[in-house]
Amino acid sequence: MTLSLKELTAEADRCVACGLCLPHCPTYRKTGSEADSPRGRIQLIRAVSQDILPNNARFKEHIDLCLSCRSCESACPNSVNYGALVDTTRALYIQKKSLWLTLAKPFIRHRYLSQAITWPLWLMSKLNLIRVLKRVMPAAKLLPTIQKPMVWQSIYPTTQTTQGAVSLGAVSLFLGCATNAFDNRTLRASIYVLNTLGYDVHIPNAQTCCGSIARQAGDDIEANKLIKRNAESFNTAMPILSTASGCGAGLKDYLTTHRIEDISTFLVTCDWSKAEVAPLQERIYVQDPCSLRNVLKAQKAVYDLLKKIPGADVQALPGNSQCCGGAGAYSVTQPEMANQLLNDKLAAIMANQVTILATSNIGCSLHLSRGLESAHVSAHVMHPVEIIAKQMGFDA
Ligand code: SF4
Ligand code: SF4
Repeated sequence: MTLSLKELTAEADRCVACGLCLPHCPTYRKTGSEADSPRGRIQLIRAVSQDILPNNARFKEHIDLCLSCRSCESACPNSVNYGALVDTTRALYIQKKSLWLTLAKPFIRHRYLSQAITWPLWLMSKLNLIRVLKRVMPAAKLLPTIQKPMVWQSIYPTTQTTQGAVSLGAVSLFLGCATNAFDNRTLRASIYVLNTLGYDVHIPNAQTCCGSIARQAGDDIEANKLIKRNAESFNTAMPILSTASGCGAGLKDYLTTHRIEDISTFLVTCDWSKAEVAPLQERIYVQDPCSLRNVLKAQKAVYDLLKKIPGADVQALPGNSQCCGGAGAYSVTQPEMANQLLNDKLAAIMANQVTILATSNIGCSLHLSRGLESAHVSAHVMHPVEIIAKQMGFDA
């Protein structure tokens, strides 16, 4: 939610400066600076909103370094709405102008434009030319493995294999700009599991990005445009399922006319009595995305879903309460802090000899996969739905 200036000051005033949120803040833990803590940021926001301090480069720096992970919000005994405070502050005072975001905007907004890039990238990866591209263009090192782009049908009717002849219901699937461009396998796996459990899956063609990246950059106008387009694209009678908790959180906060659910939350409520799930005698570590934990508050569903796989030993990755540094476009805009946080995750992955890491946010998944590749660690980062889909016969 974005606030008016008056509401911003009033919300900031609700912070009683107890400091209970400080140990939960990843940036404060790294810098040790009060100005990089939630309490410090709230005091700065209040001072700038009342013209006591100027909206200068130092203020912007401290707000920019915030991951919007909202761990502080979960820890706050006074329920201060930090998410609304930081979103509003970015919209009113930051409005980050960066070449990267300006160039990315049309690709984020229009799926056909992002596909115009992913098709040639996919062909290059097939011809083993991505390695050459990475050598001549350092920015290409951020590129994940490119999957063959998809042209989606508007509806995937249930296959009725486990639930008899009748469809149990219909859901809408949110594609998400990054998931659609870089991880359509998770989307295909989601359709497979939903169809197998008896649900028709609708994919409205006019849907677009959730707006979170624009909002993080303080571009409220663009973010609200994207939300409006999604509001017009999706049917209010069906739940919108998101495979990326970052998108789910952005939609839940701003697309208030629709029912938004993380896909794992929806799947655990389905009837699994006739579903055939092959055993997997492996330990699966779960990394909780901040958006799933602190905004959607649905992290438990991922563990419950994976526990439906016979033989799977499902464990939380130690240090789960701290952000991995993925955080939307954060790894591009704040690479130093993003890498510090990533290194903590890599240390936990190596210390626990993780082979399968489940995470349900595309931002975390891309950031962690890139870190593992650079460190030459062979753990597989997978979406929980992809893991269970494979045990149900999904052939990626
Ligand atoms: S959102 Fe995260 S990084 Fe930002 S102040 Fe809160 S805990 Fe710290
Ligand atoms: S826990 Fe809440 S009230 Fe206490 S300092 Fe943090 S934001 Fe303010």
